[in-house]
Amino acid sequence: MHLPDHKTKIVATIGPASDAPEMLRKLIRAGMNIARLNFSHGDPDYHEEIIARIREAARETQQRVAIMGDLPGPKMRIGDLAEEPIELQRGDELTLTTEDILGDRHRVSISFPDLANAVQPGDRLYLNDGFILLRVLEVAGSEIRCSVGVGGELSSRKGLNLPGIDLGISAFTPDDHDWLRFAARHQLDAVSQSFVAIEDDILAVRQAATEMDYAPFIIAKIERADALDNLAAILSAADGIMVARGDLGVEIAIERIAVVQKQITEMANHFGKPVITATQMLESMVNYRRPTRAESTDVANAILGGTDCVMLSAESAVGRYPAESVAMLASIATHVEPERSKQLFTPTMDGFGGSDPARAVDLIAASVYHTINNSEPSFVVVPTQSGNTPRNIVRFRPPVWIIAFSPNATTCQSLQFSYGIHTIEVDADRSDWSGFVRQWLRERGVDSGLVLLTQGPTADNPCGNYRMEILELALGPGMRCP
Ligand code: PGA
Ligand code: MN
Repeated sequence: MHLPDHKTKIVATIGPASDAPEMLRKLIRAGMNIARLNFSHGDPDYHEEIIARIREAARETQQRVAIMGDLPGPKMRIGDLAEEPIELQRGDELTLTTEDILGDRHRVSISFPDLANAVQPGDRLYLNDGFILLRVLEVAGSEIRCSVGVGGELSSRKGLNLPGIDLGISAFTPDDHDWLRFAARHQLDAVSQSFVAIEDDILAVRQAATEMDYAPFIIAKIERADALDNLAAILSAADGIMVARGDLGVEIAIERIAVVQKQITEMANHFGKPVITATQMLESMVNYRRPTRAESTDVANAILGGTDCVMLSAESAVGRYPAESVAMLASIATHVEPERSKQLFTPTMDGFGGSDPARAVDLIAASVYHTINNSEPSFVVVPTQSGNTPRNIVRFRPPVWIIAFSPNATTCQSLQFSYGIHTIEVDADRSDWSGFVRQWLRERGVDSGLVLLTQGPTADNPCGNYRMEILELALGPGMRCP
């Protein structure tokens, strides 16, 4: 049976460098599991075309690919500049205005009308990914007069970060609502919400989606300092989480990123929810065919630390080597995962999936884990409606593949986000899977070895029992049934 070489899932952002049909097929063949559309760039017509191309490329290559739409959230940006780039120097004055003007080195416009009410003299603002530091001198009407603390080059539409300043608005903006409607119209598998601060931000996305009769997998992007205080609640509300290191590295001290990434990843593992590690993973591959040693080590450490997915942004969206970047992630994962599986986990019963006491699904997950550790099964086969059981099992990063069978197409797509799960869509749920699984494996040339099979309640029988079965596919030489 053919399974991928790596269990870590790969997210690649699609943009001008990767949106051609031929390149999309290359990315998929190189190992892309999830295509990310960044709604901060490109209009709906562009994205509509790209969605069609991704689906076509997936059909042609016969691979499962999920599509995730990234909702921009309240990301503030400066407006267009008359001439660019402009060079700001320490001590210069720069005024941010909510008036819509063509900017220059004295005055630039800013997209958020209430900004002047949210800041006060002394506040620090950052432009262009944190490279330029501004200090607020004075707020007068719609004008915010600042002095440049750390200078640098500035061009049109660069981002503005206000670490620690509460704008008093939901992360899910009216603009995000429009993009969510777009995502619903095209039945995207997942949406990621930027700048989440509290669980209500995710609940707002879910409620709006429900009103559109749409049930996407919802990823909370953790990129604000205050989200770190609400992580457990955000993880409960969301289906998965992203360590969005780009903005996070501006909103908190860049020196803290490594530890925060570790904490977020561990908590997501504990909740049994997938986690994506994002931004600058192979940044130098935007321009070069090979990553730096530090980048390759960063990807490896993210995998060793328990990430489910690794993500490319500029590397695949606008870089010179999109397919090589995906292939490099796949290759690093292939080399590192065997070490990952050797790390010892001690499944504890309390608080699995954030629930206390443990649920039946958690007990099954722990039993599967112990059984794997004490035998050498070829596969673990997990029929599932919601995806919960396989997600709970891979929290332990077992060395064998979890093959998830689901009659639910949405569930199949959502499992693209989880480490070590290979998903097969089946035509129907069954109350007894053993015969079906034996037959299915035999047709794929697997006719010896041990297979663990879990079974849970079914749609027909929601109060059915959970159980784990051990399928001996064949008797070894000289063995007899007891
Ligand atoms: P972005 O999110 O690319 O949409 O900004 C990721 C990040 O901030 O790291
Ligand atoms: Mn971001």
